[in-house]
Amino acid sequence: MLAVLMGPPGAGKGTQAERIAERFAMTHLSSGDIFRAEKSSGSELGKQIAAVMARGELVSDALVVEIMVKAIQSVEGGLLLDGFPRTLPQAEVLDGMLGDSGLSVDAVILITADDETIVKRITGRRSCPQCGKAFHVDYMPSAKGTFCDACDGEVRLVQRDDDSESVVRQRLEAYKGQTEPVIDYYQQRDGVTVIVVDGEQSPEEVTASISQELSKLAG
Ligand code: AMP
Repeated sequence: MLAVLMGPPGAGKGTQAERIAERFAMTHLSSGDIFRAEKSSGSELGKQIAAVMARGELVSDALVVEIMVKAIQSVEGGLLLDGFPRTLPQAEVLDGMLGDSGLSVDAVILITADDETIVKRITGRRSCPQCGKAFHVDYMPSAKGTFCDACDGEVRLVQRDDDSESVVRQRLEAYKGQTEPVIDYYQQRDGVTVIVVDGEQSPEEVTASISQELSKLAG
């Protein structure tokens, strides 16, 4: 099965992607994770991407397509795309590429959430730079305050530099202007099942709703 996970930043795509990919034996490919890895590598390309991400804007279609096409071609079997495609040109390239191999997108999973919920969720996110554990200042605080409670000593938690309020609002603008049209595009395509799930429910409820609908397709 080939599914695309969509939704505004902070809707819970990352959490759901991991669970759904495991449950349905799919490979999870996150464009955001791939770009963050490139950024951490310190390469020239990583520096260019970092500057765009820090502004909350979208990386250029040409670059995204180049990187994602390679990543997708390296996967065999079920695939869960998270964060790609995010613009109409990206969706068209994906369809063309899949079509060449006799494949197509089977399902689009759209997780929705209100703007203010998103801003609160994202600006409170923190993580440990040493072990990677994720926290939220209100919903999942560390027992050691601003330090990681899973690591020995005092490892200070960090915030993603595109998780500040002004950048989150810019990311929401990019989502509404450039990514929402992709949802309409898939809604109008034959053979694609669009599953809409309320991301304001608990993460467990969201997983259950998505699983129920995907099971029907996997049938
Ligand atoms: P994410 O972790 O999915 O929120 O992605 C973080 C940032 O990476 C976004 O704000 C964009 O700057 C960039 N990005 C990720 N995926 C894409 C994409 N498909 N097209 C353009 N930019 C992207």
